[in-house]
Amino acid sequence: ERMNIVPVVHKTIERLQMTDAQEIHFSPDSRSLYADVHEQSFIQLLVILLDNARKYSNDAIHVALEEENNWIKLSVEDRGIGIPEDAQPYVFDRLYRVDQVRSRKTGGAGLGLSIAKRISEQHGGSISMKSVEGAGSVFTVILPKSEA
Ligand code: ATP
Repeated sequence: ERMNIVPVVHKTIERLQMTDAQEIHFSPDSRSLYADVHEQSFIQLLVILLDNARKYSNDAIHVALEEENNWIKLSVEDRGIGIPEDAQPYVFDRLYRVDQVRSRKTGGAGLGLSIAKRISEQHGGSISMKSVEGAGSVFTVILPKSEA
């Protein structure tokens, strides 16, 4: 359905913050940005990105929500371990995990990002990432914007 996703992002972050001390900063461009999304899927997509940011970093996480032409851009940025360049092409693949030893203590099946990609595409959008090993990562989802 068509909905204002700003409060949806707010609520999702609030819910995660109840059980975890790691700070998540959220800076939306405006108070309302509309998109046609399946609410539970959109929340799942956001939770996947936030869970990863929390798993692979210790510092605050920054979530931004911006409007660009006819698109909505949602980004989740962390200052964590980052992803080595040679692994970056595969992170959205099913069951892919960077270096089993490195990620063993954090668990996970390597499914999250493949699901995030599928959800983004099901909504007519896409997902991409930029990362520097040892410095952090930013995952960006773009979705078609709808009119209120
Ligand atoms: P799960 O299936 O529980 O999500 P996962 O985190 O291993 O487990 P993905 O979410 O698909 O699986 O991520 C794939 C791999 O990409 C991870 O194993 C991790 O190595 C790397 N990765 C994902 N997000 C980040 C991030 N924010 N910082 C560093 N590495 C990341």
